[in-house]
Amino acid sequence: MITATKAKIAPGKLLIDGQWVEGAKTFDTVNPATGEVLTQVTEASASDVDRAVEAARRAFDGKSGWRKMPASERGRLIWRLADLIAQHIDELAELETLDNGKPIFESRNVDMPMVIDVLRYYAGWATKIHGETVNTFDNAFTYTLREPVGVVGLIIPWNFPLLLASWKLGPALACGNTILMKPAEQTPLSTLRMGELAVEAGIPVGVLNIVTGGPETGKAIVQHAGIDKIAFTGSTAVGKEIMRGAADTLKRVTLELGGKSPNIVFADSDIDGAVRGAINGIFYGKGEVCNAGSRLFVESKIQDEFLEKLVGRAKKMAPGDPLDPKTRMGAIVSQEQMQTVLGYIEAGKSEGAKLIAGGNRVTVDGGKGFFVEPTVFGGVSNDMKIAQEEIFGPVLATLKFDDVDEVVELANRNQYGLAAAVWTNDVKKAHQVSRQLHAGTVWINTYGLMDAALPFGGYKSSGFGRELGAAALEHYTETKTVWMNIG
Ligand code: NAD
Repeated sequence: MITATKAKIAPGKLLIDGQWVEGAKTFDTVNPATGEVLTQVTEASASDVDRAVEAARRAFDGKSGWRKMPASERGRLIWRLADLIAQHIDELAELETLDNGKPIFESRNVDMPMVIDVLRYYAGWATKIHGETVNTFDNAFTYTLREPVGVVGLIIPWNFPLLLASWKLGPALACGNTILMKPAEQTPLSTLRMGELAVEAGIPVGVLNIVTGGPETGKAIVQHAGIDKIAFTGSTAVGKEIMRGAADTLKRVTLELGGKSPNIVFADSDIDGAVRGAINGIFYGKGEVCNAGSRLFVESKIQDEFLEKLVGRAKKMAPGDPLDPKTRMGAIVSQEQMQTVLGYIEAGKSEGAKLIAGGNRVTVDGGKGFFVEPTVFGGVSNDMKIAQEEIFGPVLATLKFDDVDEVVELANRNQYGLAAAVWTNDVKKAHQVSRQLHAGTVWINTYGLMDAALPFGGYKSSGFGRELGAAALEHYTETKTVWMNIG
C-alpha cells in the first residue's frame, strides 16, 4: 500500500510583506507516487511580483532595514530558522517526499539535515563578512566595504526543493539581501512551510517573500527592474533564457545548471566500492540529481566483472512507496518527466545500446504513480544521445576505455562540466586525472559527498558562480572602494 500521509496540507498562498495572500489563479501540486492532487497553490502574477519587490525593497532600504540590522542579530535569526526547521524535520521531510516522490529516507536523513547545516553555516558567516584596508599612498586612507547586492530573486528547481532553497537563502540573508523566492511549480510545499517558520523565527516582514508559480512567474522575476540579482538552479535551456532575460536590466546572474557527469573506474580500484559508488551516483534521488554519475566509464579489463556486479545490485533496487523508510528508489517527479525518461530509454535502444537492466515503467501497489525501474545500458558510445544529454532520471550509460588519455578525452567531450569521479588506488593517477577533468567538483573513491563549507558549481554549460562555502558570499555582495584624502 502507498502509505497514507498524516500531514494536513492547506492550499498554498503567497508570502508577501509578511502576509499570506491569495492570487487570481492557482495550480495543482501532485503526489507523483499516486498521481493524486495534494493541494492547490497560488500562481503569482506579474502584479504579485511587483508587490513582493516593493516589500523586499522596503525591507532592504528602510530605516531599520535588514542590511542595517546588527550582523549578529541577522545571524541569530537565521540560526533560529534552522532550529525551527530541526523541530519540524519530520513534517518537512514528509512534505518533500509527498511533493517530489523521493524516498523518505533521503528527505529525512539527508536533505533536511543538510538544510539545517547550511543555514547554520551561513548564520555563522553573518558576522564575518567584511572588506579590507589597503595600503596605497601616504596621504590616503583606502579601504573596501562588502555590501549586500539588494533585492535578489531566487529560482529553485524541483529535485532538492528545500535543500537548494537553503543554498541560496543562507548566503543571501547572511549578506543582508532581501528576497523573492520562487520554488518549482512541481514542489512548492516545503518552501511554503519554511516560509511560515521564517515568520515564526522573527525574520522581519518583507525580507523573505515567497512567490509560487511556474515559468511566467519566473520570467516576471527575471525581467523586473527592481530586482538586482538572480540566483537560478535549473536546466541549461532555462538558464540561457534567464541570462537573456536579465540582460536588459543588467542583473547579476549566477546559474547552477545541468550535468552529465563522468564516473571513471580504473582496473586498479576497489571494485566493490566502485560498484556501490556507481549505483549511488546514478540511482540516488531517482537520478534526478544535477551531479548524477550518469556516464560510467569502466576500464575494459574489468568491464565484464564490474557490469555483472552493477546489474545485480540495480535489479535489487525495486521502486517502492516513497513514504516507506526502507524504500531506496522513489517515484519520478511528474508524468512529464517520466515520459522524458522513458523517451531516452527508447532512444538508447534505437541507437543500438544494449539494455542490461530495467528499462520499464512499473506499477507500485497497483497505483497510478510515476515509477521507472533502475536502468542500465551497456555498449554505449560517447556520441549517443544517452551519453551526451542530461536524462535526469534513473538511467545509466556505461562505456569502456583502455587508457588514461582516452578516458580523459571522452569524459571531457561533453557540453556539461558539473562533477566527475575517479576510482583508483593509484594516488598519482587519481590527482592527475582530477586536474584534467573539466568539472566543478571531482570525487576520488567516493561519489556525491557535499558539505556546506565546500563550493559547488559548474564549468561550461553547467553554469557559473559557486554555491556553498565562502565562495557563495561573493555573489551576494558588492565591493565598494572608499578613498579618503588624509594629506
Ligand atoms: P527548469 O529549468 O525547468 O526549472 C527550474 C526553475 O525555473 C523552476 O522554478 C521553474 O518554474 C523556473 N523557470 C522555468 N522557466 C523559466 C523562465 N523562462 N524564466 C524564469 N524561470 C523559469 O528545471 P527543473 O526541471 O526544475 O530542474 C531540473 C534541472 O535543474 C536539471 O537540468 C538539473 O541538472 C538542474 N539542476 C542543477 C543543479 C546544480 O546545482 N547545478 C541542481 C539541481 C538541479
